Amino acid sequence: MAERPTLATPLGVVAGLATAAIPAWYDADRMALRDNHDFDALVNEAEGMVLDALDDAIARSPGICTCRDCVLDMAACALNSVPPRYRVSLLGSMSSRPELGGHYAAQVRQAVADAIARVQKNRSHD
Ligand SMILES: [Zn+2]
Repeated sequence: MAERPTLATPLGVVAGLATAAIPAWYDADRMALRDNHDFDALVNEAEGMVLDALDDAIARSPGICTCRDCVLDMAACALNSVPPRYRVSLLGSMSSRPELGGHYAAQVRQAVADAIARVQKNRSHD
């Protein structure tokens, strides 16, 4: 039986791994960037705002299904319809949300209301 070739990859030597299994986007320099920097500090402020607004809206609407699937669908749906608000979260800056009042907060509330209506009309379960 012929031995399959061994591929030397930046991940280490992977015996018998088909070349197709190495993602086309894979690049050692990009991985180094991820290894050397803490991207957990990169946060989309929209997530917290959408979850807060969803929590409020669900509390005001007793008929809404709050199973895991529906809640995640509503959150994803709302998040996909508001512009992201990424920022770098450093120690001490957790409470500052300078540009997130007014119009954007209203957009978030509307997105949540639309997401609730859409998901409750088209639930992923009976
Ligand atoms: Zn549900």
